[in-house]
Amino acid sequence: MGTAPATHSLTAPTVNALADGLNKGEFVPFYQPLWDVQRQCWEGVEMLVRWQHPTEGLIQPDTFIPVAEQSGLILELGAFVLRAACQQMMHWRQQGLPEGIIAVNVSALQIHQPDFVEDLARILRDTGLTAPALELELTETLALEDTPILIENLHRCQALGIRLSIDDFGTGSSSLARLQCCPVTRLKIDKTFVTHMTTEPKDRAITDSIITLGHNLNLSIVAEGVETATQQQLLEKLGCDVLQGYRLARPADAKTTEALWPDHSV
Ligand code: C2E
Ligand code: MG
Ligand code: MG
Ligand code: MG
Repeated sequence: MGTAPATHSLTAPTVNALADGLNKGEFVPFYQPLWDVQRQCWEGVEMLVRWQHPTEGLIQPDTFIPVAEQSGLILELGAFVLRAACQQMMHWRQQGLPEGIIAVNVSALQIHQPDFVEDLARILRDTGLTAPALELELTETLALEDTPILIENLHRCQALGIRLSIDDFGTGSSSLARLQCCPVTRLKIDKTFVTHMTTEPKDRAITDSIITLGHNLNLSIVAEGVETATQQQLLEKLGCDVLQGYRLARPADAKTTEALWPDHSV
């Protein structure tokens, strides 16, 4: 159909193609704003990587992240993503944009590296970004895993002042006991609950319960995948702290994102 460039590819790339793309610098940071309900302004952004492929067009992460994880290339991609995110946030600060946080997704293999925290501290030093401006997003199953290296790295991140959040919360296998001692500061409610919460009483009940549980544990709550005004109103009524989704803003490149930012800040 037509000649418009494809925006995503459903075929998983080969490891060689991925390595080639990394060498050629074809991975581009996209950013999606996080809306602070109380303050009525942008709180920051989540960095979501895309692959600007020369012939395939813009490839979404669901297509290539699994290949990057299985092949180990996620270490190289993850290091690039972290550095690019910190550099961009510093750049925005230097431009005088309101201070915000930058959230970065981190894979299991990355956070299990013995030198993960040293590498992260070096990136902060090199870029000049302060630790509290950086938030690492880990999936629920990963964040609450019981391996010594993971627990040590999470506590070392916390000691540096870096924020930690649990992504896709509600879809993994979480033990409430682990949640209590894991040094996280926020939960991100998985978008499947948000999508159905206005039509399915059970999804609404789960969303409500996650918000209450999180607040009782002193955690802030983000809802992802907010697409409609009805979802936004209900989440605000339930006390959700931060909203993320197409209703507020779609993931976009740095230029598009920064154009939105000042208009929505107090
Ligand atoms: P995630 O971290 O849970 O990110 C949220 C995903 O939901 C993003 O998909 C975002 O574009 C999408 N989204 C945001 N708002 C809406 C909405 O209103 N409706 C719907 N239907 N979707 C919405 P994206 O960018 O395709 O990323 C998919 C996943 O790939 C991410 O899920 C994350 O797990 C992973 N990922 C992305 N970038 C990175 C990265 O730099 N490193 C690692 N390790 N994983 C990444
Ligand atoms: Mg996507
Ligand atoms: Mg995420
Ligand atoms: Mg998520």
